[in-house]
Amino acid sequence: MDKIRAAGLLRTRGLIGGQWVDAYDGKTTEVQNPATGEVLANVACMGNRETADAITSANTTFYTWSKLTASERSKALRKWIFLLTVYIPQRHDLLMSHKEELALLMTLEQGKPMKEALGEVNYGASFIEFFAEEAKRVYGDIIPPTLADRRLLVLKQPIGVVGAITPWNFPLAMITRKVGPALACGCTVVVKPSEFTPLTALAAADLALQAGIPAGALNVVMGNAPEIGGELMQSTQVRKITFTGSTAVGKKLMAGSANTVKKVSLELGGNAPCIVFDDADIDVAVKGSLAAKFRNSGQTCVCANRILVQEGIYEKFASAFVKAVQSLQVGNGLEESTSQVANPSFGSVDMIPVGPAYKCTHEKNPGWTTASGHLGPVRISSKIQLPEKRARSDPNGSASRIQLLENERPAVQFCGAALAQLCKNEKQELLEITFYSFFHMQGPLINEAAVEKVEKFVGDATSKGANIMLGGKRHSLGMSFYEPTVVGNVSNDMLLFREEVFGPVAPLIPFKTEEEAIHLANDTNAGLAAYMFTKSIARSWRVSEALEYGLVGVNEGLISTEVAPFGGVKQSGLGREGSKYGMDDYLEIKYVCMGNL
Ligand code: ADP
Repeated sequence: MDKIRAAGLLRTRGLIGGQWVDAYDGKTTEVQNPATGEVLANVACMGNRETADAITSANTTFYTWSKLTASERSKALRKWIFLLTVYIPQRHDLLMSHKEELALLMTLEQGKPMKEALGEVNYGASFIEFFAEEAKRVYGDIIPPTLADRRLLVLKQPIGVVGAITPWNFPLAMITRKVGPALACGCTVVVKPSEFTPLTALAAADLALQAGIPAGALNVVMGNAPEIGGELMQSTQVRKITFTGSTAVGKKLMAGSANTVKKVSLELGGNAPCIVFDDADIDVAVKGSLAAKFRNSGQTCVCANRILVQEGIYEKFASAFVKAVQSLQVGNGLEESTSQVANPSFGSVDMIPVGPAYKCTHEKNPGWTTASGHLGPVRISSKIQLPEKRARSDPNGSASRIQLLENERPAVQFCGAALAQLCKNEKQELLEITFYSFFHMQGPLINEAAVEKVEKFVGDATSKGANIMLGGKRHSLGMSFYEPTVVGNVSNDMLLFREEVFGPVAPLIPFKTEEEAIHLANDTNAGLAAYMFTKSIARSWRVSEALEYGLVGVNEGLISTEVAPFGGVKQSGLGREGSKYGMDDYLEIKYVCMGNL
């Protein structure tokens, strides 16, 4: 926490009208580190009175912020991205960036490993960047008139004050995915972050203020969730509620918004099927399912919740998958990366092989750099013989392997190309490339209640005949750590099938036919993300169209991006976030008829 404090980013009071304020009755609540139980800070515990003032402030600012040109709003947003992500010298001996500090804060209060946290800062900033650009593309329409002396126009205007309620699993990105488009459109916002992760939200808001987002355009209140939510819902000034969280709370917010007829966007729970067909590439399927299941220790609403495996490949897939899950390391998210904080570009990080994802010789196929699906660092090692001087980052100093570490997906491609060139120069045949994923690291679950839920689901499954193939109990580290778990022979009468486990438990469900897989996949009220692994193009189309889901990943386990629409069908929610469609929820359409021309 000292690093965060030194950077001036430890904020514990709410943000109302540009002022950092305590709860009016002085109440505070603790924010804890789920990995250690340490109390990180005491933050203001606010309620309806503070929320009412935040709404008033947002409402007043709406009249000025919405009158700025799109270009002016875009510039302020772009400055915010800069402060969130760019490296800024802080002390003469150390390069620190707000990116590192925000990631550190996330790891401390949420538990996700630093690598994933750094990935989330990029992901969070990508929404601001995307919507800063979209701000300039809010086009209206001119409609051919039905009478000669009329002109019919369509204007798109910001909806007004937005109440944004966000969860703890993505403490930054779930905020920027809402605040980015809202501010870009000209709306002002009152954010209520999760009580478990307010520090990241407050730090990001601080940087927004520093970036010149005007006082009152972005307010943050936290504390008593039903009171804050109640105030947001009953206010006639709040014109929209946007929420990411549980289906139960989403339903409450939808009902509560009825009285004032607010526009509502909901990103609710999922129950993602991940279908592995007999004709899948087994390495791709293992890698994709692992990433889809174990990201953030299984605590995302798009995490694979049910892995449906066709009979013919079941045994083979199960044993490869168990092996991959076995190599996941459980621990405090800070452990892997203290060196990464000081030096973000390099560092020796243990990663698990999630491949070999690719085997080829570079002569036959120089385009082998297909490490898609990784949000974070990827290490590529090749079994090639290279002179000693070339084996740069091999920890054992062995000349038989070369390992390259890069941070971003494009860098992976660069890395691959560079390695291919290297092999060519050295006249070495490239035998095998192994792609590594940073999802090797599993942090704690958010709290004790989350572990109890996982235990209940696993207990229910075993009592009904499922078999534990790996894990299946609390981790010896204690706190809220749970062993990465694989459960075999899960069926549709078990909680693991019916509900979202939100933890590191992968249920394997055997099936016979494509029809049965589609039926099982759709046999739920949820409809957020679904995944499938198959080599058949025809089947990809057929099944994608048959799945009742808002997002479908084909041969890919990580599909979220700021440029594509994210959202669910059925009880997984309303509206879409990200992409050009993500602007619509913050805009009203106004028809103007000019007559007697
Ligand atoms: P999760 O199970 O992912 O924590 P929740 O739906 O409980 O999901 O929480 C998501 C967000 O909704 C958090 O910011 C939480 O404080 C907030 N929340 C919970 N209950 C209410 C409520 N009654 N009204 C408004 N917000 C709520």
